[in-house]
Amino acid sequence: MIANHKLASAISDLGFYEFRRQLGYKQKHYGNKVMLVDRWYPSSKTCHNCGNVQPMPLSDRIYKCGRCGHTADRDLNAALNLASVSIDKLKSLEP
Ligand SMILES: [Zn+2]
Repeated sequence: MIANHKLASAISDLGFYEFRRQLGYKQKHYGNKVMLVDRWYPSSKTCHNCGNVQPMPLSDRIYKCGRCGHTADRDLNAALNLASVSIDKLKSLEP
């Protein structure tokens, strides 16, 4: 999220603890449900096309799969992986 410059300044200003606390507040206020994935889930290291997991240094902004050749923006690849996480790997944010 820090790579997204609009989000980066907002999150850096308030810090991740406060960001998470506010998500909990908004969740309760709007009646939504915020779901969390394990902090070590390899969303950036996993190929969204074939599921291959490979090292991804932070300096690499483009994901290039060593198995299937799939190429995507690092953040887009991670976002697609997070969007398709199975429900059993998620837990809800406690307000
Ligand atoms: Zn792949």
